[in-house]
Amino acid sequence: MQKESGWKKKSKEEHKLIFEFAEGYKKFLDEAKTEREASIYISERLRENGFSEDVSTEKVYKVFKEKSVVVFVKGEEPISSGMNILVSHIDTPRLDLKQNPLFEEVGLAMFRTHYYGGIKKYHWVAIPLAIHGVVVKVDGRKIRLRIGEEDGDPVFVIDDLLPHLSKKTLDEKKLSEAPEAEKLTVLCGSIPLVGVEKEAVKAGVLDILRNMYGIAEDDFVSAEIEVVPAFRAKDVGIDRSMIGAYGQDDRVCAYAMLEALLGLNKPTKCCLGIFADKEEIGSEGDTAIRSTFLFMFLYELMESMGIKPDDTLIKRALFSSKAISADVNGAVNPMYQEVHEKQNACYLGLGVCVEKFTGHGGKIGASEAHAEYIAEIRRIFDSKGIIWQTGELGKVDQGGGGTVAKYLAAYGMNIVDCGTPVLAMHSPFEITSKLDVFETFRAYLAFYNS
Ligand code: MN
Ligand code: MN
Repeated sequence: MQKESGWKKKSKEEHKLIFEFAEGYKKFLDEAKTEREASIYISERLRENGFSEDVSTEKVYKVFKEKSVVVFVKGEEPISSGMNILVSHIDTPRLDLKQNPLFEEVGLAMFRTHYYGGIKKYHWVAIPLAIHGVVVKVDGRKIRLRIGEEDGDPVFVIDDLLPHLSKKTLDEKKLSEAPEAEKLTVLCGSIPLVGVEKEAVKAGVLDILRNMYGIAEDDFVSAEIEVVPAFRAKDVGIDRSMIGAYGQDDRVCAYAMLEALLGLNKPTKCCLGIFADKEEIGSEGDTAIRSTFLFMFLYELMESMGIKPDDTLIKRALFSSKAISADVNGAVNPMYQEVHEKQNACYLGLGVCVEKFTGHGGKIGASEAHAEYIAEIRRIFDSKGIIWQTGELGKVDQGGGGTVAKYLAAYGMNIVDCGTPVLAMHSPFEITSKLDVFETFRAYLAFYNS
């Protein structure tokens, strides 16, 4: 089990391909910072490449509530003989604006937030932030907001306390408690509206929102506004070998999956791709992998194939399927090597990572892939010369995490976690290796074609 840099195994021409692939990926990261934007981007790319929402065609997709997408490519074999399934997620840890967010203190207007997913709160202060989302008016009109991304756009920020005064208030707190969640308020204005006596700065912000976007204060009640880092995806390192960007967990696997789906041409097996929402908060909710939307999609699909669909047929098709839970893994951090058991950890630049099980402690909450299935994955990857590695998330009893694998495993299908290694995972600026991103795409394409 050699741990050798994947770059050494690639030719000059292949290096070029890897770098080209990364350019498309960076565009996706910049355009799709929320699950809504990701689902719009994915469906546009699918449409441009001959996919349609008409379930009677060979290449089908369905968008569910603008937050998750299911894609189907008809194979030579019938759906009843099982599908090759990939599932990734397009939601990402962030800050959501509260339902009644706006307030004013000491002449400054701010938005209150409620964080989503596993963030380290100190990551979110004193960095430029953008606002993305929708405001839905009572009459159903949807106003889209995206402020802070274009050159010349203003950005937003969460004020941090100066070191001179933070000794008692912040510095002596445990890192996990500082700053408190309620202090993650987003600075958004400071000019008072002329002629207003009370809360004139807040009135000034509302005046701009009304004039520029047609949004009134009570419209925030029916809005979903996400606060995300305002910076764009960048090459990292003087050799440009890495990508730094917000939201790579799990848009890196989502992008690799999308590109694999677009590259399919008459596969043997029917292929299914699921871009799920709400993975970061436990896959609960109607747009998450545990929702019935997958069944509804398969119902429609079978109907269009002239099969009278019922639960048993769909369950049988899922039972006979094989799957990859396309999600990232934490790569060995050079300065915190002690949290990893390095013989079984994954590393940046060593290729796509196959993770036999997730969970914590004694494999609690894990979906564990069987040896027979791992052997099949090895066979598939090795036959296409995929550069891959294995990886367990951290030392035993160090912590852990889960993915959507167990929810599909519940149908009785073989499933294994397989995705890109990431440094600084769940931070506003996550790091991946361009080589690993490319190998993830190649691995997914090989899997679909198996
Ligand atoms: Mn993930
Ligand atoms: Mn995650």
